[in-house]
Amino acid sequence: MEAYVQEAAKQGVDIFGFSDHAPMAFDKKYRMRFEQMAEYEVSVQALQQKYQGEIEILLAYEVDYLEGFVDERVVRADVDYLIGSVHFIDKWGFDNPEFIGGYEDRDIDAIWQEYFSAIAAMAKSGHFQIVGHLDLLKVFKYLPKSDMVELAMDALNAIKESGMAIEINSAGFRKPIGEQYPTRSLLKTIHQLEIPITFSSDAHKVEQIGYKRDAVLQLARAVGFKKCAVFRQKKMELINF
Ligand SMILES: [Zn+2]
Repeated sequence: MEAYVQEAAKQGVDIFGFSDHAPMAFDKKYRMRFEQMAEYEVSVQALQQKYQGEIEILLAYEVDYLEGFVDERVVRADVDYLIGSVHFIDKWGFDNPEFIGGYEDRDIDAIWQEYFSAIAAMAKSGHFQIVGHLDLLKVFKYLPKSDMVELAMDALNAIKESGMAIEINSAGFRKPIGEQYPTRSLLKTIHQLEIPITFSSDAHKVEQIGYKRDAVLQLARAVGFKKCAVFRQKKMELINF
């Protein structure tokens, strides 16, 4: 974890958030166990102390929104923010290459509708501050036939209503889709709706910190964003970038 902080500081990052995958009683091998939460939180807090004045470090979790598996220990955790992400549709892990066959069985637009319904439900739950990779379902290039913005509109309205921010996540550049989440047309609508954005490299390795940082900053500015959201103790501040 310290190597992540050092790399971020080296790149001149002012504020760096840890958002490891929160525990859940499903798909356990991709996340920490409930018993590891305290160790994780203490480790981040120790780094906050050690690097005080050099780089601001935030404590967070990326939480799977999967109906029936929302856990109080996670949603009530005393952290700066929770990223709400949808990685499963009816327990189908659609972003996992192991289960790519799931796309072949059904109408692609029906899958997209179900995905964005889950995003809307996540926003309405009120547990989360940031929407993780808003259009993750595009990861393997299974794009909808209908207009993406139309499909996402109810979810975007729910997000607006909830007061959440949406991350611009550069991990998509590392995946078959080859672009950030969310796609540009969604970003334009997010800007029109005045939903705040924040930035994420979704780094799972030290080398991925700040990945495509200049590209996503430029894109955000081109779309018209001037400020980005930072959450401390689940309170939002908008700062210039
Ligand atoms: Zn994720």
